[in-house]
Amino acid sequence: MNSVNFPRVLRIVKKKILLAVGTFSFRPPNILKILWALLLLYGEILCFYLAIWSCTWPTLSHWTLPQGKTPIRLALIADPQITDAYSYKQHGFILRLVEFYTDIYMKRTYRILQSQMEPQVIFYLGDLFDGGREWEDKAWFEEYDRFSSVFSTVKSSTYLFSVAGNHDIGFGKSTVPHAYDRFIDKFGEINYSVNIGNHSIVVLNTMALNGGSEKYAREAQALIEKSKDTLLPKVLITHVPLYRPDTATCGPLRNGPTPIHQGKGYQFQNLIEKDPSNLILNGVKPVLILSGDDHDQCEHVHHYKGGAAVEHTIGTFSWAQGNSIPSFGLLSLHNPDGAETQSPEESFALDICLLPNQLTIYLMYIVALVWSIIIILVHLMREYKLNSNLYGDSKRSKCISLLKEFFSTLAEVAFTAICVYIFCIIWFVI
Ligand SMILES: [Zn+2]
Repeated sequence: MNSVNFPRVLRIVKKKILLAVGTFSFRPPNILKILWALLLLYGEILCFYLAIWSCTWPTLSHWTLPQGKTPIRLALIADPQITDAYSYKQHGFILRLVEFYTDIYMKRTYRILQSQMEPQVIFYLGDLFDGGREWEDKAWFEEYDRFSSVFSTVKSSTYLFSVAGNHDIGFGKSTVPHAYDRFIDKFGEINYSVNIGNHSIVVLNTMALNGGSEKYAREAQALIEKSKDTLLPKVLITHVPLYRPDTATCGPLRNGPTPIHQGKGYQFQNLIEKDPSNLILNGVKPVLILSGDDHDQCEHVHHYKGGAAVEHTIGTFSWAQGNSIPSFGLLSLHNPDGAETQSPEESFALDICLLPNQLTIYLMYIVALVWSIIIILVHLMREYKLNSNLYGDSKRSKCISLLKEFFSTLAEVAFTAICVYIFCIIWFVI
């Protein structure tokens, strides 16, 4: 097979560009081509960079950091829930299309967040898959490969940790043993603690303490007991948020109109029940709680014997999970002395980074398409008025010529737009 001669290809491209620039005229179709190229570059690449550039790792005023040093940086990604046949009951081509567009959104934001924010640690806060607990092995491993391709880590030095969600392993007494074991095989332990930045991060399968089988509940209980041994400030991670009364609100970061209320159904429950929540809080005594599952941001203060902690529920990372503005969490940890800190304000800071609204981007394209058609029509009508004799003799031939001209101009603009669009897609796919 002949290899591609890149210098020759570049020379041809350069020649074509110079030719295009040299012969460029400010005809409306040419202006439309430029506007479409700029619009697509903005909608497919630039707006994602702008969203992430607007975010910074949070710090607290009393943190003293040596020149050039930063706190420990953890990115929190909740509920990517990669779209599959269980998501919208779609099949065939439509499903592939939805999968492609939800994957590419997360792939590009994940890649940009890594290159621009440089997190040292990334936590997936559960529900990595949508039908994870349902799939037979063959299909699940295909989904796993897809997940790995979307969330491909750029730097080998980045530490990755995962939390099991109800979509991954099931909820409470409905936990699926095979899905539970399979998750451990690929993502590691389901109940574990890890020391990061002189904090003990306690990842607890709280779903098992909510009426789960004795075996799984025992594993979670054992971690609670173990967590009592450390003097480091503890960050509790639970996929499903802990109990709060129905009157509790969610704070200003919530996108949707209603706070989290208790609700139950097949393999889900919106909140852990009150008793297990109290048992967890009084056992772990965290300074901070992180959760997912709800797909929207929510803040709630929990009180326990001897302290209190804010629970931050992180919104979904996907644009197809009921929240039009996906996001991820930025958690900075700074506890240089390794001292036990009682105040939840002292050794960590958390912020939310909001991502572009994909539906707004699509709407922008639709509006641009309508305007493009109007501009082309107006342009052709003006040309026709000036040179109507060039469009034929009879009314019918004039009409056919005009229609042909319209579609060829539209195709000319569309060709440029499609080339730029493919370039934008390839930018993130390869
Ligand atoms: Zn969930």
